[in-house]
Amino acid sequence: MSTRQSLAVLAILIAGVSFLWSPQKCRTYPGDPSWPEPHVWDELNKTVDGLLIRSRPVAIACHHPHFDEEQCNEVRKQWHSPQYLEKSSSAIQTPLFANKSCDPFSEPDAPCAIGSHVAYSVKVASPAHVISTVKFAKEHNLRFVVRNTGHDYMGKSTGSQALAVWMGHLRLTEWFDDYEGSNYRGPAVKMQAGVPVEQTYEEANTRGLVVVSGVCPTVGFSGGYIQGGGHGPFGSLYGLAADQTLSMEVITTTGEFVRASPTENSDLFWAMSGGGGGTYGILWTVTVKAFPDIPIAGGRIGFSKSDKISDDTWWEAIDFYQAMTPSFTDIGATSFAFYSNEKFDLPAVFLPNGTSRSIITLLQPFVDKLSSLRIPHKVDYKTYPNFLPAYKELWPSELFGVGLFYFGNRLLPRELWDNRDGVEGKKFKQLTKAVREMVEDGAGAFDIAIRPTLKVAGNPDNAVHPAWREAERAFGIQLLWDDLDDWPAIQGKLNKITAYVGLLRELTPGGGAYLNEADPYEPNWQQAFYGSHYNKLLAIKDKWDPDQMLYGATAVGGDRWSEKDDGRLCPAQSGVQWFLSEAFERGRGALASFVPSL
Ligand SMILES: Cc1cc2nc3c(=O)[nH]c(=O)nc-3n(C[C@H](O)[C@H](O)[C@H](O)COP(=O)(O)OP(=O)(O)OC[C@H]3O[C@@H](n4cnc5c(N)ncnc54)[C@H](O)[C@@H]3O)c2cc1C
Repeated sequence: MSTRQSLAVLAILIAGVSFLWSPQKCRTYPGDPSWPEPHVWDELNKTVDGLLIRSRPVAIACHHPHFDEEQCNEVRKQWHSPQYLEKSSSAIQTPLFANKSCDPFSEPDAPCAIGSHVAYSVKVASPAHVISTVKFAKEHNLRFVVRNTGHDYMGKSTGSQALAVWMGHLRLTEWFDDYEGSNYRGPAVKMQAGVPVEQTYEEANTRGLVVVSGVCPTVGFSGGYIQGGGHGPFGSLYGLAADQTLSMEVITTTGEFVRASPTENSDLFWAMSGGGGGTYGILWTVTVKAFPDIPIAGGRIGFSKSDKISDDTWWEAIDFYQAMTPSFTDIGATSFAFYSNEKFDLPAVFLPNGTSRSIITLLQPFVDKLSSLRIPHKVDYKTYPNFLPAYKELWPSELFGVGLFYFGNRLLPRELWDNRDGVEGKKFKQLTKAVREMVEDGAGAFDIAIRPTLKVAGNPDNAVHPAWREAERAFGIQLLWDDLDDWPAIQGKLNKITAYVGLLRELTPGGGAYLNEADPYEPNWQQAFYGSHYNKLLAIKDKWDPDQMLYGATAVGGDRWSEKDDGRLCPAQSGVQWFLSEAFERGRGALASFVPSL
């Protein structure tokens, strides 16, 4: 057999094996003959100790026949409160994915349906509950979802008519003074799947420690946050949350309870440290490094636009801020700025180990610039003996609503600052021009200066997008969500976000975006969210989730499925189509190494 023939046979064999992993039929949907009868659901309920919950739309009281004005007004008032929504077993905190299927702002006569929400959830209390639930979903070919808080901006913790495991109540922790791992010795904490960010900081504080965790107190630390990377106030000092993982306990969709660490099931551990939530297995616990608590210096600056400030002066100030962030990140500081056409708000510069003198020195150039531009501004500096009071004061929990914005994101590489011409050069000017263009078009910037290089993160080997290692800023671009918008208006805003991110993509070719806070309609999301890790992650997924039970539209392997108009999840291509295209791609890949023009 010639080399070419051997490669063709090999390609078909590989495609044949991959075919076994490919989705071959739509998930069962209510109304299908194979949808489980009520008594079958009752059987499941018995195996999970009565913890099966049938979903009830949060806004059911806003619609006939359940209409109740008082209750409906309460739902409307709380519609953007994470604390309120996370009490529901099915609520989605990003209204885009709630799909207006039971909308508190529509007329009482409008239909109220489960729509894009899960049909049933098991409020998990033991690994056995997860194992029984995934087994049931598999036996009945049901769509299966892992949900924790429901915060996900990408819609990955919901699924139309799916059966979910709800992990949000698993909040036990175990602290170690002297944990010994394969490449770490020191303080650590093991956290169950439902521990939220706020709990991580509060428990650490009582032990004189800190952990690398997020900003929003209600985000699920062990869920999508750490598995998707996880940025936070210590990002420029210690790296991302996923860089701190030491070991995990994971339940696989084949029903096994396994340990994953750098020395045990290391591929699974690698993937679940930054390669995205809800994709490879169901995390039961994660153990992460903890660090000695340290003093923090905090700074805030705010100013507003007025008739006395010209547009160019306004942008001169913002451009100055954009140019100076390396002076923050180079000394371990992380800062969070929001700006629009009307307001600039830098609510938090976290300077670890900072003093009152060092925070003033750090912000003084910006303050001087604002004074020279005659822009009235407010500045506050404060030092804190340790992290928790700084966190609570600089990021009060009342600040955090959910479902308030459409999001797009791009990781801006330090190279934009450090190239030969620096911030006076063409590349940086193109960046500030693009930012101005978006903001003048009505967008808001959520601009995080963060530099989680491999060096500060302790050279971890994990699935975090390589673009994070080069990043100077995680730049978010936002549009306001309006509960009263109709679908054409919503689509218009989504298109705008995609166009904005396109401008940033052009300036950062080969770069990436933060998979948890990105445009859900990012074209070529595989590259943007996972970069060069994508194929490796896909192979790990196929090994650990061979029946493709775990799905998210932008999770690894998500492109093998498509959601139909009614919400049903179906294979993106028919089995035969898929087999042929896979054989073609694999064959082409194999031949390309011999014939470069292919
Ligand atoms: C208001 C707000 C503030 C935020 N602030 C930050 C921030 O400071 N830093 C930051 O990095 N991100 C932040 N995020 C983004 C956040 O990290 C993501 O939304 C993340 O996906 C939330 O994870 P969750 O588990 O709470 O949410 P969920 O929506 O419940 O789950 C998210 C994803 O994780 C999967 N998942 C959940 N639990 C498990 C499990 N046990 N095993 C396997 N998969 C699981 C789900 O299937 C889904 O794919 C913020 C989001 C919001 C809404």
